[in-house]
Amino acid sequence: MNRFFNLLLFFTCFIAFSQPQSPSEFLPNYGKQVTYYHQVEAYFEQLVQNSDWIKHQKYGETTQERSLNAYYISTPDNLKNLEEIRKNHLYEIGLYPTKSNAKSKTIVWLSFNVHGNEIGAIESALSVAYELVNPNNKDTKKWLEDIVVILDPCLNPDGFSRYANWLRDVSGKKTHPGVSDREHMEPWPGGRQNHYVYDLNRDWAWQTQLETQLRMDLYHQWMPMVHADVHEMGYNEPYFFPPAAEPYHEQIAPFQRDFHKKIGEITQEI
Ligand SMILES: [Zn+2]
Repeated sequence: MNRFFNLLLFFTCFIAFSQPQSPSEFLPNYGKQVTYYHQVEAYFEQLVQNSDWIKHQKYGETTQERSLNAYYISTPDNLKNLEEIRKNHLYEIGLYPTKSNAKSKTIVWLSFNVHGNEIGAIESALSVAYELVNPNNKDTKKWLEDIVVILDPCLNPDGFSRYANWLRDVSGKKTHPGVSDREHMEPWPGGRQNHYVYDLNRDWAWQTQLETQLRMDLYHQWMPMVHADVHEMGYNEPYFFPPAAEPYHEQIAPFQRDFHKKIGEITQEI
């Protein structure tokens, strides 16, 4: 009888261990204090260890030697077939010469925290990743049959760490909501920019910075259909929803204008 209970305990522990943990289970201070970059990486690592719905690829290092990370999230079958799905997708958009046997999947790229001090972005990346792999979330499990998500939780780890370390330094156990409190008066150079104090959100076009160049190498290998660029706005600032204000850049094609409009309608419905 004892052996039976020991065995039961072993399987219970095994099952408990093999479930991915939510951000607040893994990080008791999640949502109360800013998460350090190494904790963000540790959180994603535990998702990778405990779920076969997520795979990790380090795609480079920043100037300050922090890892740049992409996480592929989809069904276990899709993840096993990732390279064929990628080639098939490129074939369908005229960028690869031969068709593969893989079925068409929608490629969705999620970028968080290009502005390092907009920490709502990176913090939300943990919850988004969790809900995508969470076995109890049946909606996301269904979506991922047809979608490959490529999730980059932090495009600007050096800027984010500059901000996060400063915030930890000036805030105590009790955080203060007042806009004039010290923890809301970030000194120059703030965490918005990267190591060289360059705004990486302005660098998508010119690609002069290391982080952008490394990211674009990977981006061009995938050419996603949808790219969400997650920022944080001030509490009394407006939020941006497409379509953008005129004039549009001449390189934005008519089908892209139509698509922006469609996305705007969907986001307003939500
Ligand atoms: Zn921003």
